[in-house]
Amino acid sequence: MILDSNNLEKDFHATADAVVIGSGAGGAPMAYKLASGGLKVILLEEGKKFDIPSYKRNSWKVMRDIYRDSGTVLTLGAPSIPIPLGNALGGTTIINSGTCFRTPEKVFNEWKKDFGLSGFEYSHLIPHFETIEKMIGVSDATDETVGSNNLLFAKGAKKLGLHPKPLPRNAPGCKGAGLCVFGCPNEAKTSMERSFIPAASDNGATIITSARAEKLIVKNGKARGISGSFRSPENKKSGKFTIEAKNIILSCGAIYSPFFLLKNGLANKSGQVGKNLHIHPAAKVVALFEETINAWSGIPQGYYVDDYASEGIMFEGFFLPPAFLSFTLPAFGMDLKNFMADYSKMAGFGIMVTDSSHGRVIAGIDNSPMIFYSVNKADTEKFKKGIEIAARVYFEAGAIKVLMPLNGFDVINNTDELKILHEAKIKPSHLELSAFHPMGTCRMGDNPKNSVVNSFLETHDIKNLFIADASVFSSSLGVNPQVSIMAFSLWCAENILKKIKNFSPS
Ligand SMILES: Cc1cc2nc3c(=O)[nH]c(=O)nc-3n(C[C@H](O)[C@H](O)[C@H](O)COP(=O)(O)OP(=O)(O)OC[C@H]3O[C@@H](n4cnc5c(N)ncnc54)[C@H](O)[C@@H]3O)c2cc1C
Ligand code: SF4
Repeated sequence: MILDSNNLEKDFHATADAVVIGSGAGGAPMAYKLASGGLKVILLEEGKKFDIPSYKRNSWKVMRDIYRDSGTVLTLGAPSIPIPLGNALGGTTIINSGTCFRTPEKVFNEWKKDFGLSGFEYSHLIPHFETIEKMIGVSDATDETVGSNNLLFAKGAKKLGLHPKPLPRNAPGCKGAGLCVFGCPNEAKTSMERSFIPAASDNGATIITSARAEKLIVKNGKARGISGSFRSPENKKSGKFTIEAKNIILSCGAIYSPFFLLKNGLANKSGQVGKNLHIHPAAKVVALFEETINAWSGIPQGYYVDDYASEGIMFEGFFLPPAFLSFTLPAFGMDLKNFMADYSKMAGFGIMVTDSSHGRVIAGIDNSPMIFYSVNKADTEKFKKGIEIAARVYFEAGAIKVLMPLNGFDVINNTDELKILHEAKIKPSHLELSAFHPMGTCRMGDNPKNSVVNSFLETHDIKNLFIADASVFSSSLGVNPQVSIMAFSLWCAENILKKIKNFSPS
């Protein structure tokens, strides 16, 4: 059952076996698994339920309504980096690109070596990956839907001896409409509100939207409930709720889960809550061709190149509608007007970095965390190399100009000019970046002194309080995270169910 809080009593009380807070890649699979295991589950989501087709492809309106703070969440640091987040039923998955990778085994083993994950092996994740891939219908992007933007980069990459591949995606009915990050107008992408959430509801979970969790109720060191406020359509307080529950699962994402704990002053004996923020910072290059490409037509993120993944550099497709692309180009006035007149002759690809840089989330005022993050020297070098490779790929594919995300190297006209970049000293503040994968702010590990949750994702400090979202990753993941978040969430749910069964007098 999916209910909006504005249809409930203004002072709402309930009891449950488990309350899940947040309905994104962490919360939705959790609610599904616990409900299908027979528990009485209530899932609380601060955002609303949205009907994407009714937006009639109006990307501005989607951004205003569905992105948290209309897409203006930013880091403070060098450089300042936007971190878009979803604030809706389905969490950030409703506005994501649909790329699906399993957790790299090498990364999981590094986490195990560095932090100790007793009782948790990579093999435990495999059945969960299989469930997820079936549930959200993961398959490779097809050449019919990827469009010329991806195929053009693939052509140039092959000429340089690289190995471009179609991306695995959760969009079984994809028609290549090119708007994934504004919600799929064709309802092809199986984001959480179209997959795990209806499945949770079918299994008896109650899902309440426009409900913001604010206070954790703790008794004798155990989580015992949650209270908070209902939100009006204008996001004002419109009521309040208290739910008593035996298990509380925090799935507010890597920015808002630590924010919640810091505001409550809980689960932070380690001092690590909010620290160790990784974001997979990303840059993009845009190339101009003589011929028409119509890069807007087709899956924006349809191909990838992972030849440099071991160095922390991944290349993945991207493109944006004109209004959004225009304010990210390194040009102004007539120059910008002239570039945009050639919108149909542009192509674009992204460079994502596995970051050794790390930042911090602190509790700001009202409902706004503050995010500090600066790119370090090692990651700046990764960007320099990645940007140069992407530009070379485009010149191989026949580009006449490449627009760069690097202050001082705005437009490059040929590979000779790239040599100047190669010799140049680049500072972090020269980079124009964005980031789509915050993680790591409540990291997992065996040692309560340097981690927030254990290998079953239960907090070291408060029993029956679990964290199931991107914040539990122990370092930068290196691939797009949604499937990993879902799989870790199912692992956590499986163990909650086992624990309850072991203790219930049967
Ligand atoms: C533009 C974009 C493209 C992306 N593309 C991809 C991709 O192709 N592949 C991929 O793997 N990943 C992608 N991602 C990232 C991926 O979507 C996220 O990593 C993932 O959704 C995070 O899951 P989560 O559960 O940690 O948090 P979220 O999905 O953000 O869910 C958290 C939810 O908690 C809610 N919440 C927060 N606080 C409260 C509270 N106090 N009470 C109630 N509810 C609360 C929020 O409203 C939100 O709905 C993309 C992200 C963006 C922004
Ligand atoms: S490319 Fe278009 S049809 Fe395919 S998932 Fe994205 S928005 Fe939906």
